[in-house]
Amino acid sequence: MNTNKTVITRFPPSPTGAIHIGNVRTMIFNHLFALQNNGHMVVRFEDTDRARSKKEFEPLITEGLAWLGITDFDQPTRQSERTHIYRSYIEKLIAEDKAYVSKEEPKEAGQRDTVIRFKNPNKKVKFNDIIRGEISVDTTDLGDFIIAKSLDEPIYHFAVVVDDYEAGITHVIRGEDHISNTPRQILIQQSIGASMPKYAHLPMVLGPDKSKLSKRHGSTSLQDLMKAGYLPNAVFNYLTLLGWHPKEGEEQEIFTPDELVQEFKLEDVQKAGAVFSEEKLRWINKQHLLKLSDGVFFSKVKESLPTEITNLPEYSENRLARLLPELRERISVFSDIKTMAEEGELEYFFEQPGYFAESLIWKKSDKISTKKHLESICKILSDLDEGDWEDKLSIKDTIWPYAETNGKGDVLWPLRYSLSGADRSPDPITLLFVLGKTESLQRIKEAISKLES
Ligand code: GLU
Repeated sequence: MNTNKTVITRFPPSPTGAIHIGNVRTMIFNHLFALQNNGHMVVRFEDTDRARSKKEFEPLITEGLAWLGITDFDQPTRQSERTHIYRSYIEKLIAEDKAYVSKEEPKEAGQRDTVIRFKNPNKKVKFNDIIRGEISVDTTDLGDFIIAKSLDEPIYHFAVVVDDYEAGITHVIRGEDHISNTPRQILIQQSIGASMPKYAHLPMVLGPDKSKLSKRHGSTSLQDLMKAGYLPNAVFNYLTLLGWHPKEGEEQEIFTPDELVQEFKLEDVQKAGAVFSEEKLRWINKQHLLKLSDGVFFSKVKESLPTEITNLPEYSENRLARLLPELRERISVFSDIKTMAEEGELEYFFEQPGYFAESLIWKKSDKISTKKHLESICKILSDLDEGDWEDKLSIKDTIWPYAETNGKGDVLWPLRYSLSGADRSPDPITLLFVLGKTESLQRIKEAISKLES
């Protein structure tokens, strides 16, 4: 057992599936608090529920931690492999008359007729919760509670106390749903001679309707967020804000994990439940996305583009690179790129659009003047050097005087339509810039020929 006073926190998930967002938040607080105190966090799998716990779920947990950038923990232990240890503690308690084998009336067929019960000393236990202050509970009502179904089947409360003791856990930081477990766990600690760790019970993570976050609210697991294309640092950032925020007057909401190690304060965690809002997470993700370097942003965009787009005839990385500023402005999460593709908002950048000539005509304008405007613009743009095409402002300066003189709608609508073939698309300057000189002129000429027929 670790006897020095280094801070050791713990993350003890049950490997029963994807990790719930609330548990991830709790894990992050344990991680931050340990780092702030030059300590470390222990990970263990609470897999004593043999029906629900599966080894194949363990990677969901370790991969989730790695995705968040948390890798500095030892190989996790498994409660299922520590039965002999729990057994020795139970035997000792029985020998010391602190626990006993109790004969029970089986409530249903097949049920055991003996269990192991703890001899409750029926006293008040007190602990000082870092978030909730002093809590005092009379344990008499708990009676002689069960600590094991048999010598080899300790229940959760017993295994947790033994594990925390043997790992030298100094701080138990966990969800408020465990607060009612604490008094009996303290009694068990006292019976095995363990000292009491410090406790911090964290507010629950709630859905928008203020009930505990669950499947019907949408995303509930870290895996859901990973799949949705959020950035790890944004998830780390947002989950830390579920129950904690900087002091009044400090409005900062965007933090890197390193900054959070500096700023986070366990004692400032709120008591009230924390509402998980996917909208807020999207906003935070966007702020992190805006800070990505062009290179990283580019490669993430490439990864996110569906093959329906990359297979288009005019697709090239060169053109994609010109589209990046527009995408950076438009998306909040990389998966939005797929949505844009599905909604037809990307394909015209990479293939000549199909449309009817009539769509080119703005409101009260007509075929003849629309054609005349497109011819004039085509001429003006032909005179613009390829070099000037690298700058949206010079493209704008080139066509703007003509548009202002001849009516912006009458000129810019057909120009935009000739380039995108869509009722809604970015402005014509952006389209000209992304498509480049050759393709833009080609599309305008195509529009002119449609108007001729
Ligand atoms: N395995 C428990 C859970 O996933 C954690 C218990 C604890 O933190 O003491 O809720």
